[in-house]
Amino acid sequence: MTDFARTRALFDLPEGVIYLDGNSLGPLPRHAAAHVARVMTEEWGTQLIRGWNGAGWFTLPERLGERIAPLIGAQPGSVTVGDTLSIKVYQALAAALDLVPDRRVVLSDSGNFPSDLYMAEGLLRSLGRGHELRVVAPEAVAAAITDEVAVLMLTQVDYRTGRLHDMKALTDRARAAGAITVWDLAHSAGALPVDLSGCDTDFAVGCTYKYLNGGPGAPAFIHIAPRLTDRARPALSGWMGHAAPFAFEPGYRPAAGRARMRVGTPPVIALAALDAALDVWEGVSLQAVRRASQELADLLIAEVAARCPELTLASPRDAQARGSQVSFAHPQGYAVMQALIARGVIGDFRAPDLLRFGLTPLYLSAEDVRAAVAILAEILDTRAWDRPEYHARAAVT
Ligand SMILES: *Cc1c(COP(=O)(O)O)cnc(C)c1O
Repeated sequence: MTDFARTRALFDLPEGVIYLDGNSLGPLPRHAAAHVARVMTEEWGTQLIRGWNGAGWFTLPERLGERIAPLIGAQPGSVTVGDTLSIKVYQALAAALDLVPDRRVVLSDSGNFPSDLYMAEGLLRSLGRGHELRVVAPEAVAAAITDEVAVLMLTQVDYRTGRLHDMKALTDRARAAGAITVWDLAHSAGALPVDLSGCDTDFAVGCTYKYLNGGPGAPAFIHIAPRLTDRARPALSGWMGHAAPFAFEPGYRPAAGRARMRVGTPPVIALAALDAALDVWEGVSLQAVRRASQELADLLIAEVAARCPELTLASPRDAQARGSQVSFAHPQGYAVMQALIARGVIGDFRAPDLLRFGLTPLYLSAEDVRAAVAILAEILDTRAWDRPEYHARAAVT
């Protein structure tokens, strides 16, 4: 049994805000601020450089990896934390390509997050070996897994529509075709049960500032199947992933295990915030989170269908085919979202026309969803969105 009243009390949400954007940036777990302050004053402030050993800063990336592993169905010793997700995508893809030297195609889909595709483009160009990034429609992925494919690189949950890929089926198919898999769990980790071991995936990466609530710019994670760790060559061969960083050898030797995916000095303050945020998951069942988020999403879809006829559902109608977010299209989606945010209902906008809402039962209830739709309906009915200030685009949407 997961007690969502307990988890709700762990978050510090401002009065008057209904937060439907935990899929983009999770809110502050109340105790994380105090934990970060303590790390700063008691560890950094008093231990100074001795903190690397004395306060265990050096091993923090692997210790946090151990805490994330059960949330994504990964074996102990297979996850480490650091850098941004874009960097982790690059590392995973580079290591994956290295394992299939005789093939030239990286297969992905048009529902992937642009940064993943951009990183792949940049990497393939640097390799200069004639690789092709082949991007197909999400529904066409399975049929496009041929024996030309070196790596299948997918994000499990589509950031725009919430469409969910069948990880097990696609991983099996890739394996049968001799391809390596790189799964991006940015919109999966903390949103739904993930079973990397059961699916026997190769590489996986993901975010900690979305559903894991690690804080803005919190470091990403990378997972390598244990059967591959000692063959996975780190493309970003920084000293912190060296077998003996403090031997200061002139040549690179990768560390044993997942620690080879470390690059440079770990961001201790950011890791401290993430460490505290991961406490929230103690006693929380991801099956319960999944069930509750599906109920909230179904309620949102039903309420919008009843009260907001101008909006078109842009997510799969079937809860099993969706992650933990729901999107609706509206030609003036940007302005509608700004008007909504001005009234304390925070979702986000994704070009060209999507209003996107994350359903996170750790701190959201059915009453929140009903109240949010009532405000949305009022904005649409009165055209309250049609004011100049709601049309002006900010840098971050
Ligand atoms: C959020 C997200 C990113 C963001 O990458 P950063 O390097 O952390 O900015 C990348 N890929 C996917 C699939 C995402 O959802």
